[in-house]
Amino acid sequence: MIKSIENKVKLHNGVGIPQFGLGVYKVDEGKTIVETVKTSIDLGYRSIDTAAFYANEEGVGQAIKESAISREELFITTKLWNDDHGYDATLHAFETSLKKLNLDYLDLYLIHWPGKDKYLDSWKAFERLYNEGLVKAIGVSNFHEHHLERLAASANEKPTINQVELHPRLAQEKLREYCKVKDIKVEAWSPLARGRVLNEPTINYVAKKHGKSPAQIVLRWHLQHDIIVIPKSVSPARLKENADIFDFQLSMEEMNQIDQLNMNERTGKDPDEVIF
Ligand code: NDP
Repeated sequence: MIKSIENKVKLHNGVGIPQFGLGVYKVDEGKTIVETVKTSIDLGYRSIDTAAFYANEEGVGQAIKESAISREELFITTKLWNDDHGYDATLHAFETSLKKLNLDYLDLYLIHWPGKDKYLDSWKAFERLYNEGLVKAIGVSNFHEHHLERLAASANEKPTINQVELHPRLAQEKLREYCKVKDIKVEAWSPLARGRVLNEPTINYVAKKHGKSPAQIVLRWHLQHDIIVIPKSVSPARLKENADIFDFQLSMEEMNQIDQLNMNERTGKDPDEVIF
């Protein structure tokens, strides 16, 4: 039973990442991002997932500085954007992100999308940043099995995490199984399918039984599948609701019922269609 928001998943290099955190895609730079991150930290969130592409790294950094929680207790992720691939460009992009975040190290740096093949050079720069201690863990996002295989053929370091779209309508069972065998942790983006799974009758039925909201049921389903989750919200009430999932347990039968909702339906793009 996963009992606390402080529960951590151990990555293959020994680093612990909170299994539950905040995603900040489409959270506006400025007051909104600063308030959202600060509220989440007050509620017990310790992991923040941003990206250069989200254009809110500065606000995330400001919130971290203004919070009462020490840097070491927080787990900060950002991502390399598609325009910045290549060895030198990656090193430069990392420095820019770190400066915007106003940090001297990052917990996790991810390749946002694989694209065609530039990720192989970018990964070499990731390995350097990791070896220099500037980032505690390196990983990838939106990688299919074939991208991971190709990377493995030339890499010295294995990715610690693959962050992919994952929710009850896109359960990614094959990829999850592959990553499990390789000891690469799976992190779900759009864990709520951007709200699209919340009207599902099965989820509402289970929610009523537990006296919980549909979003809480979906997030609990992720946790019990050992998936790392980073739901996004700018509403203080929903930030609180999403984090209040550590006092109940879905039964095996309920997990199976939610598993049945899979229809391999994406809300975002298939990584093989994002070519650059
Ligand atoms: P989510 O599945 O987290 O859903 C967010 C949406 O659901 C928002 O519209 C939010 O609205 C709403 N919502 C949140 N909580 C509740 C609730 N309890 N009840 C009802 N509605 C709710 O989608 P995201 O796409 O934001 O994914 C999460 C994170 O994953 C991102 O923020 C980002 O960090 C990461 N990500 C990574 C990608 C990648 O390529 N690596 C791609 C996309 C996302 P409101 O804010 O108004 O509450």
